[in-house]
Amino acid sequence: MFLLLLAGFFFWLIFRDFRAEHPISEDAISFNRAYRMTLLVLGLVCLWFPFDQWRFNQFLTEKATILAGGKTVNIHCDSAIDAIFEAGVGRAGTAYIEDRQIIFHYSWCGKLKDYLDQPTGGLTRHEKFSLHLFTHEVMHIRGERDEQKTDCQAIQRDYQAARLLGVPKGPAKDIALHYYRREYPEHPYFSSHCHPGGSLDETLANSTWQFL
Ligand SMILES: [Zn+2]
Repeated sequence: MFLLLLAGFFFWLIFRDFRAEHPISEDAISFNRAYRMTLLVLGLVCLWFPFDQWRFNQFLTEKATILAGGKTVNIHCDSAIDAIFEAGVGRAGTAYIEDRQIIFHYSWCGKLKDYLDQPTGGLTRHEKFSLHLFTHEVMHIRGERDEQKTDCQAIQRDYQAARLLGVPKGPAKDIALHYYRREYPEHPYFSSHCHPGGSLDETLANSTWQFL
């Protein structure tokens, strides 16, 4: 919102400059042209970041809706300004089941974007985790509130989620297995029933566990 206001301010300065009377010397004309171009570039830069964020939100919303079974899921990425006013400090994501809305708290959309831009290497632990976070929150939206069951549902769909988000088959398999093998055993949502053949196994055709 702040950047949109700033963009509006730059465009208003251009508008004001067009309406003002200017001296007609050559130097003054070229100065005015450079001034307006500078304001235009600054305005467009301020518009670009919100537009890029909106595009990414739309992309995640579309994929989350598919993963949730076809009923619309709204995804919102917190900006730094949002983070000041919203609940959920210290959390990575929050799912509002009744509203079918997922909030990714500040920086987590950026981590997911970084992962999707470069899913094959040089990733931080949080960037890798962001994919599972996406799947986990979408499982909540389907109506599951129990964290252990939600996480196990997400584990089985991490491969599918990565593919939906455009990750190639090899890295999608790697990221899905990475969480299940490396992170999950130490995670507070771990359940001893979450394994192939366990009581939480949904025997999905496209499950992460097909690669075990
Ligand atoms: Zn959860």
